[in-house]
Amino acid sequence: MPPRRPTRGRHRRQKSSAAPACFTAATIAAFTVSGLNVPSAIGAARDGAARTDPIAHGPQRENALAAAQLRNRVAAQSAVRISRLRTAQQEALSAAQEAARRAKLAAENTRPQWVLPVEHYRLTAGFGDVSGLWSHTHTGQDFAAPSGTPVRAVGDGTIIFASYDGAYGNKIAIQHPDGTVTWYAHLSAFLRTDGKVQAGDLIGRVGSTGNVTGPHLHFEVRPDNQGPIEPMAWLRAHELKP
Ligand SMILES: [Zn+2]
Repeated sequence: MPPRRPTRGRHRRQKSSAAPACFTAATIAAFTVSGLNVPSAIGAARDGAARTDPIAHGPQRENALAAAQLRNRVAAQSAVRISRLRTAQQEALSAAQEAARRAKLAAENTRPQWVLPVEHYRLTAGFGDVSGLWSHTHTGQDFAAPSGTPVRAVGDGTIIFASYDGAYGNKIAIQHPDGTVTWYAHLSAFLRTDGKVQAGDLIGRVGSTGNVTGPHLHFEVRPDNQGPIEPMAWLRAHELKP
């Protein structure tokens, strides 16, 4: 009895599947390298110049696109939510800190007469400096600080201006009892816009509105609401050490 050669057994199946397996591997390799797949290659060839997108198309492509768009939308929405949450947390924190500061001063019964407009800063442009940024010489003192840094009224007084003012950006002006007016410019936020303020009251936040190259407070001193004077000497005359 001759050995029975299987006609449709394992041996033959192996042979018949060998070639397609090879082809499939080569095809996958080629299309993996090129970033194409078979339907898109055929589609691109058929559509010619009308098709500029070499990526897969058809239902799979649409599904992938829809999924990617959904992912992007969800990511953008959660980024907005997180950022709103952070801002709210920061505002709540600074409100609590402000309340604690007032309570401490009240308990000590030692309210300062004068304070610096920002606590932590780097002095940049000074009064009288010349730069392409200003049409004349610099009319105040710049206190560089991160955007959002608290800006405080330097002394007791009344807010007489709180609005956008061209190159000054968002600006607050406070008139003090002796008639001197102090300006706080380039603010990112107004926290007070009118009424009486006390030395150290939180009135706004450092920003970069108006004509600036980076976030800072531009501080001016104007005796009798007239032309500006050198603000550093004025601050020192009020027992501050900027
Ligand atoms: Zn300035």
